[in-house]
Amino acid sequence: MDTPWGNPDFDAHESVHFVDEPRHGLRAIIAVHSTHLGPSAGGCRFWHYAERSEALTDALRLSRGMSYKNAMAGLPFGGGKAVLLASQDRHKSPEMLGALGKAIDGLCGRYVTAEDVGMSVSDMVEIRRQTRYVAGLPTEGGVGGDPGPHTSLGVFLGIKAAVRRVLGRESVEGLHIALQGAGSVATGVAMHAFSEGAKLSIADVDQHKAKKLADAVGATAVAPEEVLFLEADVVSPCALGAVLNEDTIGKLNTPIVAGGANNQLATPADGERLHQRGILFAPDYVINAGGIISVCFEYLGETQASVVRERIDGIPDRLEQIWTESGGTGRDPAAVADSIAQRLIGRA
Ligand code: NAD
Repeated sequence: MDTPWGNPDFDAHESVHFVDEPRHGLRAIIAVHSTHLGPSAGGCRFWHYAERSEALTDALRLSRGMSYKNAMAGLPFGGGKAVLLASQDRHKSPEMLGALGKAIDGLCGRYVTAEDVGMSVSDMVEIRRQTRYVAGLPTEGGVGGDPGPHTSLGVFLGIKAAVRRVLGRESVEGLHIALQGAGSVATGVAMHAFSEGAKLSIADVDQHKAKKLADAVGATAVAPEEVLFLEADVVSPCALGAVLNEDTIGKLNTPIVAGGANNQLATPADGERLHQRGILFAPDYVINAGGIISVCFEYLGETQASVVRERIDGIPDRLEQIWTESGGTGRDPAAVADSIAQRLIGRA
């Protein structure tokens, strides 16, 4: 297994844990980036990586993103992330999840897990059998459960804030939104946008999923390789990271990029590239904080859904603050967000 040393995404992470339990088919990396503001919190990703080094890079980048995200959302939590290396057939078992739960428990609360790509509420229930350092558990009407819908709500409110700023419109009615992904976050964004009268184009590498969602919201299912480059009022990446890069940014045909995927920019220079093209970017870890807001309040024992909603309603204001500072300084919004977040976690 690779070590974090020498990995360009190693950012003085407090600790990186490699978990190998071949008996249970478990191979995982838990990266704790910062506990400056509190226990590190961030979801667990279950993904098949072609190369193990890609899993390490993901864990390092995503955990740093969580430090920034939690700080920007005003949460008393640091940043961490678990990455579970799936086999090609993506087989998952209770034993595997139990072993992961034990590994998390061994960190004695320095890392709190929840859902991310490939993990469900029932997986969290399985992990809960071995550790209490987990959230995103089933709930009956209170705070908790799948963070996806909370993320989607925050992303939709962020899209509306960007539309207000760039297009001077209070609603997305009649606007064309191109959605990359048809998973948990994209589905919620599509539902909100549809109910406000937006026209949607949707793509997923799983074309069946894209078609099903498109049919549900009267959208057009488009090819995954085309969706980012459609002529649209908003492009909303809601699948995986690094989709905004040297190759793709020049081909964008939109004034706004605002979506829920983590780490959309392949490199910091890509934030500047978007800015130079006059495209307004909503920094991903600010706009997609709705889910972790729900997870963290659940973990803290909050029972009032209105408290979570209020914090998610603050996402547009945080974006506005970043865009205004970007306008005033000429720095791109992602760079502005990074420097605010670094100050908050004591790394400036
Ligand atoms: P998901 O697994 O439910 O959906 C992801 C979808 O993206 C899948 O349907 C997959 O087939 C599709 N996909 C993968 N590569 C693609 C490509 N190249 N083109 C088009 N589609 C592609 O995951 P999710 O929970 O919806 O998360 C989506 C993104 O949002 C991820 O980057 C995740 O880290 C981020 N995020 C999720 C949450 C949450 O609460 N679920 C919170 C914050 C950020």
